[in-house]
Amino acid sequence: MVNQQIIPVFIFVFMLQNSLFYCILARLMVFKYNKIVIILIAAISVVLEMQVLTLLPHCSVVAYGLMTLCYCVITIICFEGSIFKKFVWGISIPIHIFSIIAVAAAIRSLALGQPLKYIFMDDNILLGFSAYVAIVCIIVLMILLNIVSNEIYALMMLPIEKVKIFLAIEVCILIGLISNTYVYELEYFAKSILLQQIILGVMWIVLFYMGLLIMIGIQKSSNKQRDLTQNLKAQQIYKNILHRKSDIVIEVDCNAKTMLSYTENGVPVALAVGQKYEQARNVLMKRVQRDDEKYFQAMTEIEYMKNVFIEGNNKYSFEYRTNIFETIRWQHGEVNITLIDKTIKAIILINDITLEKELEFKAQRDVMTGLYNKVIVEKLVSEHLCEYADGVLFMIDIDNFKAVNDNLGHEIGDKVIKDVSKKLNSIFIEEDIIGRFGGDEFVVFVKKIEDEKNNIYNIAEKINKAIATTYCDEYNKVKISASIGISKVTPELRNYKDLYISADYAMYKTKKKGKDGFTIYSGEELNGEYEKK
Ligand code: GH3
Ligand code: MG
Repeated sequence: MVNQQIIPVFIFVFMLQNSLFYCILARLMVFKYNKIVIILIAAISVVLEMQVLTLLPHCSVVAYGLMTLCYCVITIICFEGSIFKKFVWGISIPIHIFSIIAVAAAIRSLALGQPLKYIFMDDNILLGFSAYVAIVCIIVLMILLNIVSNEIYALMMLPIEKVKIFLAIEVCILIGLISNTYVYELEYFAKSILLQQIILGVMWIVLFYMGLLIMIGIQKSSNKQRDLTQNLKAQQIYKNILHRKSDIVIEVDCNAKTMLSYTENGVPVALAVGQKYEQARNVLMKRVQRDDEKYFQAMTEIEYMKNVFIEGNNKYSFEYRTNIFETIRWQHGEVNITLIDKTIKAIILINDITLEKELEFKAQRDVMTGLYNKVIVEKLVSEHLCEYADGVLFMIDIDNFKAVNDNLGHEIGDKVIKDVSKKLNSIFIEEDIIGRFGGDEFVVFVKKIEDEKNNIYNIAEKINKAIATTYCDEYNKVKISASIGISKVTPELRNYKDLYISADYAMYKTKKKGKDGFTIYSGEELNGEYEKK
């Protein structure tokens, strides 16, 4: 008679065990249905297994085979993926159960000093034992579900070819386990056989996990190999693009100070490979415009590259001019530094940027005079004021300019504007910011005036003197001059807008005084008829 109290316990633990098995499979494959269905299929498994066990002699080869089939069929029906994968994970359930049965049965028999067959002779003992096996399975499964990370589960999603090898390992284990069922028929107590059963049971499970680990290992290293090849390919493609795109590419071994490659206009110079970097550098130096020689030399020095790298940067760039047959061209140098196998490697890319420079120049300049436009003057002066509280702004407006246009024509008007710009260029130095604000209005920002008072006066007088000119044609004569407004940077007057308004106000005062002269803004309130622009 079966003890009725054991049956619900047995069903509960068996269902829990099967549910946990399917939960693990759901991490390795896509479960086709709602997760709740797992409980249903766990119940179906229990029913099927109970049928198998009641119809067949317990733990016979056929019973083991049918149980395996049960798990495989349910896995095939409920999960998505290739048939191999479903077999692999379907078979893993009976492998765990049978191995644990082997170990647990042997331990129990050893402890009680009974032959193995005793477990299967009494239904109550069998149910109790099965529940005990299921509890051990539950503990193992709980550990697997909670300890093993998702990354490891992801690694277990082996590709088909590796699944096939693993499936072969599993089939061998399963054959071993099923063929081992004959020991359950033994009617005598043999300690050595029981110990052997424990070793075998543990060995099957160890073999299962070792096989799995080996497959994962092979998979990981082939992934690594693939990443490496892809990386190398990407590097090669990147290198090819650089070589094709840049006018000159020099790869330098900074330790040996030799060239690893030299490409000019996309053509590799084979002879350069292995040669001293200094040689190529000297050839390039010969093309550099004299003013930029020192800068070019510093920027292309191997020690400089190494220092940049040691300081934590792996890239820097510089611009310089070349002078070939009296033609000046702008070049852009970019140095990329990397550490490969303890060797500092630099890739120097040199490109002609004359066109970009010309476009940049045009975008910043007034078309007619080549002087800076209003936007750039504001930008440059503001940049200077951010760093230094020093400088003087001159606003210059031509007097009677309209009369030139009206009496001598626009062409002469344009010539006047160009003449004024040339005169301003000759009075001021390169560091000064000279701009034209459209019409007949010019501006000059002098960054530093050494001997303040005299110099401001001198400069203003120079401007007035240079611009005062009479233009004439056969019929008309027009005398032009300049009205200048000057504002000086002071702690109170430190931003471009205020400087500009003050200088403009001073210029307005010059106009009011009768033109052809200058006024230095003295800090007074802006008032009267002056209108801020
Ligand atoms: P003021 O003495 O008070 O400065 O008067 P002005 O005659 O110089 O006239 P104003 O400065 O008010 O005007 C400048 C004129 O310059 C207005 C415009 O017709 C003319 N102008 C502006 N741009 C150009 C240019 O590119 N070429 C020529 N020829 N004339 C220009
Ligand atoms: Mg004017």
